[in-house]
Amino acid sequence: MSLALARKYRPKTFADVAVQSHVAATLKGAIALGRVAHAYLLCGPRGVGKTTLARVLAMALNCERRGDPSLGGEPCGECASCQRIWSGASSLDVVEIDAASNRGVDDARELRERAMYAPSGDDRYKVYIVDEAHMLTREAWNALLKILEEPPPRVVFVFATTEPQKIAQAAAPVLSRVQRFDFKRIGPADIRARLERVLREEHVEADADALAMIARAADGSMRDALSLTDQVLAMGEGAIGPERVRDALGLVAEDEFIALLDIVAEHRAGDVFGFVARLADAGIDFGQFLTGFGDILRALLAVTLGGTPPEVSERARDALEQRKQTFAAGDLLRMLSIATELEPRFRKSGQQQLLLEAMLVRFALLDRTVSLESVLRGLGGGTPGGDDEPSAGAQARRAAPSAPASLARKAERTPSDTPASDWRAVIRDADRAPSASASSTARTARDISPAPPRRTAEPASASPPASGGESVSSALAGAPDLNQVVERWDDVVAAMRAAGKSVAATALEHAVPAVVNARGDVTLALDEANPIYEQALESVKPELVSTLRRWFPGVQRLVVRAPEGAATPQPRLTDEMVRSERIAVLRRKDPVLDAAIDALDLDLAD
Ligand SMILES: [Zn+2]
Repeated sequence: MSLALARKYRPKTFADVAVQSHVAATLKGAIALGRVAHAYLLCGPRGVGKTTLARVLAMALNCERRGDPSLGGEPCGECASCQRIWSGASSLDVVEIDAASNRGVDDARELRERAMYAPSGDDRYKVYIVDEAHMLTREAWNALLKILEEPPPRVVFVFATTEPQKIAQAAAPVLSRVQRFDFKRIGPADIRARLERVLREEHVEADADALAMIARAADGSMRDALSLTDQVLAMGEGAIGPERVRDALGLVAEDEFIALLDIVAEHRAGDVFGFVARLADAGIDFGQFLTGFGDILRALLAVTLGGTPPEVSERARDALEQRKQTFAAGDLLRMLSIATELEPRFRKSGQQQLLLEAMLVRFALLDRTVSLESVLRGLGGGTPGGDDEPSAGAQARRAAPSAPASLARKAERTPSDTPASDWRAVIRDADRAPSASASSTARTARDISPAPPRRTAEPASASPPASGGESVSSALAGAPDLNQVVERWDDVVAAMRAAGKSVAATALEHAVPAVVNARGDVTLALDEANPIYEQALESVKPELVSTLRRWFPGVQRLVVRAPEGAATPQPRLTDEMVRSERIAVLRRKDPVLDAAIDALDLDLAD
């Protein structure tokens, strides 16, 4: 196979770009009606067909059979012009520019000069395809704006970008002069269907599970899916099976995930460390592992609720069926929620092994946390203060929904038209129910005020901080549960950011609550040894404690813990990498700084 699949099977017509049919149909119609815009902005994640569609547009505009009513705006794909543009051979009338490598003013000037040249023939269009357009400098956009204000006849600009918001920041006026299209992320089912077609053409047999694995690994990018398939094909001969895909792509075997489920189910917290060490030895990417484990938890949840998980192999499905009594749905939701919330911090962390171990140990201890809660709940009826009605505990017990009941309630609240892609949001939302019962129980033990739902916007009003003369028992009851603090963490970060403490907020994103003791002391563990973050956190301790008290009145004190050098399992980053990573993070967090860097054209990232 000399030609890479992604090139060989690059679509030749709008109809071929099936997944983005909403965009393709509009462009095809514009060509059929002769109403082509001067500039298009194609936005969307990488590998979803932006440049491909731009090339099809260029082909259609310059097709020798253009105007043929039987084509209806499609390029013929056969004529010399179509062939030349499709194959990427040099064409006078189609200019592809990669803005990632052409940022400077000189290029903008050159672009303007070149745009002045008319197309090579009277019936032809000059098409500029600018890839990674968000990388263009302000000067380049200024030059382009002048062209777009008085566009030369039969010149079309197609800007493709993964980050349209950066264009909005750097060159807002451009947006009103382009026709914008947003491309969809490509779902695993669409990717599988395309791979099936391509492999049939190649006369290669492929197992359905194997294709599903490639589709998952491609993570929404058709281009990645095809080049991953190239890799798998290069690994051997004959039919493609799951083993070959796993070996070629370095994926974690599903058996490993199942083994991990058993460790968690059997509370073998101590075994977590050996398990993770084995992954590290095998050179497994922890980020990919976390995503894969999330998929398995989601599949087990589906099985537990009597559904069919679509994205796992037959074998894994059987293994999950055997384990469907092992976890309560509520516990699976809590684990999924914790894993989902960890993910963004995880990607940035230099301490992934530590974070993964900590999370899995928590999972292994999760059930015991719940049973401890129920013990407290049982005690809650009589003890606190002695002035509680004896029935309060019983009420709490009745009020605290069992996991399936809360799920049923959730199902009533959530209409079945919730898009599947929002499952993370659904889970996060659904997860509030069991936690709410836990926190309301804690509250009932302290005072008899009715449990307010946790989703209220003003958590401060939910339970006023205990005023002076608090009893020992109320202080004890007030110490929050670690899981609850972790679940609230994003809100805490947002509150600090809203209060103008943006450096501290960034530092908080690099920290996880690691321990909450009975006195209400919260220990934060930084995910990297970083004096700036440590200093930032030290300086906002009082504000942070009062912010935490909005949700958890029992919080007394804050301890910041930096990771110890000895525990660092990852190779050390160079100062250079740390610096550029930090600048990248700052740029992402702070639009003003980002704009300033762009305006001054400082090349900080380099
Ligand atoms: Zn043609």
